[in-house]
Amino acid sequence: MLCVLWFLMLVMSDSISERLNSFLCTLAGRSHALAKGQVSLVGAGPGDPELLTLRALRRIAEADVVLYDNLVGPEILQWVTEGAECYYVGKKAAKHALPQDDVNQWLIDLARAGKRVVRLKGGDPFVFGRGGEEMDALLEAGIAVEVVPGITAAVGCAAYAGIPLTHRDWAQSVTFATGHLKHGLDELDWAGLSRPTQTVEFYMGMTAADGIAEALIAHGRSPETPVAVIYHGTRPDQKVVIATLKTLAKQISAEAIKPPALLIVGEVVRLYRPN
Ligand code: SAH
Repeated sequence: MLCVLWFLMLVMSDSISERLNSFLCTLAGRSHALAKGQVSLVGAGPGDPELLTLRALRRIAEADVVLYDNLVGPEILQWVTEGAECYYVGKKAAKHALPQDDVNQWLIDLARAGKRVVRLKGGDPFVFGRGGEEMDALLEAGIAVEVVPGITAAVGCAAYAGIPLTHRDWAQSVTFATGHLKHGLDELDWAGLSRPTQTVEFYMGMTAADGIAEALIAHGRSPETPVAVIYHGTRPDQKVVIATLKTLAKQISAEAIKPPALLIVGEVVRLYRPN
């Protein structure tokens, strides 16, 4: 009996991989290949390589040069074609591995040298990814540029933690905010972010978690509002800590949660069920 099951699984997985292969070949044969001298700003998703889009996969395989940041894992970089150049230009919070202007100039120079360039970013290039700044610089230099969307951390982390971002009974809207601002937390619209029946997700919120919780409480959000802290969402070592606004800072330090982590604030967090 077990043998039969094993054989069936083998046949099925073979037929699945054949179908996948033939689908990928069909896609690769379509037009819209990355052109020489063009830059593709590609979103790599939040970490799990299966969350790459097919377009992202194709662009990574087509590139002559890939510039990637620190949220892009090795399982994704293995799709870079042998012989293509691959450079790390990542940033860690305020510590820039390479200044943004230098990255922009490098992209321009590579495109002008006739390379097919992929700028690979964690999540989505246009969500707290400085993709807008890179696109601007490229367009200004007369370089052809395209954007390939990726699953942003807010969406990927929520899905893998089983926390719905909206729910008819709990949250009618969702906001993505950053906890890392040029001129400090005062730049955010705390009155708006503190309104009930909404979910607020903070990117880069670890260092400022204390200030974020204080500001939300000061503007009327209940101190008992649940908060999920999700470290390395969608990756094998994903960790989820459930706190409240009142206990947030203490729990982050007790559990020694480090970036990259995301905060989900709102009643929907009550729906979280650990696996
Ligand atoms: N462009 C990216 C965000 C870059 S800002 C995107 O769309 O997802 C970097 C921040 O994103 C991190 O500090 C963290 O808050 C969040 N982040 C990215 N990947 C994450 C992951 N796998 N798990 C938790 N947070 C993540």
